[in-house]
Amino acid sequence: MSGTDADEAEGSKKRILVIEDEPDIVRGLRDALEFEGFEVQARGTGTEGLAAAMDWTPDCVLLDLMLPDDNGYRVCETLRARDATVPVIILTAKAQESDKIRGLDAGADDYVTKPFSVAELIARINAIFRRQVRMASTADETFAIGEWTINARKHTMAKGRTSKRLTFYELEVLKLLRERKEETVSRDELLEKVWGIQPSPTSRTVDNFIVKLRRKLEEDQKNPRHILTVYGLGYKLVH
Ligand code: CA
Repeated sequence: MSGTDADEAEGSKKRILVIEDEPDIVRGLRDALEFEGFEVQARGTGTEGLAAAMDWTPDCVLLDLMLPDDNGYRVCETLRARDATVPVIILTAKAQESDKIRGLDAGADDYVTKPFSVAELIARINAIFRRQVRMASTADETFAIGEWTINARKHTMAKGRTSKRLTFYELEVLKLLRERKEETVSRDELLEKVWGIQPSPTSRTVDNFIVKLRRKLEEDQKNPRHILTVYGLGYKLVH
């Protein structure tokens, strides 16, 4: 990933991820949402959609139920398991009450039946954002690393006037290191607890990831002050 400060800076535009495989609907949604001032990315499969939800950290996900590789319910459940807070609105042609309930059981926040009015969809998105603002004001989860304030709910790290977005995995790594502050956390434990994958002696996932995270967090990545390497063992977080 070659993120620059410009694209890491938290913009004022809300980000909407559209997971939908019908090009006409994607085009219509993109036009309408961009016109409303949202930033839009679209993916045509559940797998690509989930990857984008983790990497791009959207503020809201619009999710089609009938995707070529998976059904939207499962995509929604997976998304919820990884990120409990991102609002999800299900878009579907199915109008039956049972589908609606199943979608809400899978963790969706709202439901729109095709063909839907774009104005109504935008009103629902805005309603969700207003609700979020109210919730955030009472339940912020923040912690400090050095001079950075990490906001786990907003997925941001802020220092003075600088604010950067944190991806799902970046936040999870920081949360785990922080829980075990001043203690060494092994690469294997990071792999298992954050990525949910079995450790392998050849895996460079964690090390490569820490390099990128330091680029964001450390003033001097060559001489890190916060995320320290414990040679042969793993990493630890210090202030
Ligand atoms: Ca579809």
